[in-house]
Amino acid sequence: MKRRTQKIDWTFWERQVCTCAEAMAHRHRRQTLPIPLGPIARDRRVHRYVFDRLPVAGGIAVEENGFVIYVNCEPADAPSWYAKLADESDGGATLPVRARFTIAHEIAHTFFYDLSTGPKSLLSQLDAPDLSRLERLCNVGAAQMQISDRDLRIETELHDILIPTNLLQMARRFRVSLVTLVVRLTRFPGWSWRGGAIFIVSKRGNTESAERDEQTPRYWVSARAIDGTMRAFLGTTSPRSLPPDASRSLDRFGLDGGDLPDEVTIPCRVGGVDALQPCGIHCAAVNEDGCFMITMRLSGQPTRAVLPRVTNIDGAAEVK
Ligand SMILES: [Zn+2]
Repeated sequence: MKRRTQKIDWTFWERQVCTCAEAMAHRHRRQTLPIPLGPIARDRRVHRYVFDRLPVAGGIAVEENGFVIYVNCEPADAPSWYAKLADESDGGATLPVRARFTIAHEIAHTFFYDLSTGPKSLLSQLDAPDLSRLERLCNVGAAQMQISDRDLRIETELHDILIPTNLLQMARRFRVSLVTLVVRLTRFPGWSWRGGAIFIVSKRGNTESAERDEQTPRYWVSARAIDGTMRAFLGTTSPRSLPPDASRSLDRFGLDGGDLPDEVTIPCRVGGVDALQPCGIHCAAVNEDGCFMITMRLSGQPTRAVLPRVTNIDGAAEVK
């Protein structure tokens, strides 16, 4: 067996995938979002789709002089999916969000092929870690193809992305899941560095809560985007859990059902002194299955933390 002597330069491939995905989005975008995937697939020599029940979300195979893309689909839905891709005016723009992501992911796989002749793979001898990096990069490419830097810049200039309803509407316009949008924001060079964070949160199931102890958080974070300024305050929070104050705020939101802006404080150190940084917080329900969105934004200056007062022997109070 031939051994690979050269390691794959994944940094190069990451740049390559993002550049190709961005270029495809530019070339085929229309007056309005979302990006039609059918013309991009054709451009990348996808000649055929197979929509059927599969044990995985999707796949791609080389076929003659191009590719065939497979997508997991209920057989009853297949005819309308084929029709949407065949319809020039739709181009797959109205396909379900999940199907669109799978198709975009499979198209991203074609970026690893030389198409100047018959499709020829540019990667060889992939081991298991390489394969998972390849899959991750295809997810990155799928997100960028549907949410290009250019479109995201326009959207974020027009709308305040720290207002949950704006983010929900933005995901609808791009026809992507909220998680895809939030993960995409983390890689967006135009993400404002003003102190903001977005969390997509799910409530833990009731079956789990029976065995839960006090230490187990009530919510888990499925995706988050924290900008550079906010990272100084929240960067040490575990990627799957919420800052404690945000968790309490979400409890209150769940009980009251209100969407009123609230304020929380984040413990921090300023000039060697314990302080509290106030943050505006917004909560919104994403769906009826206990999925929420929380956005936080720095507001105002940090205040000195109130610490327990102890009395010294002279009876004068001092702050420890
Ligand atoms: Zn894949």
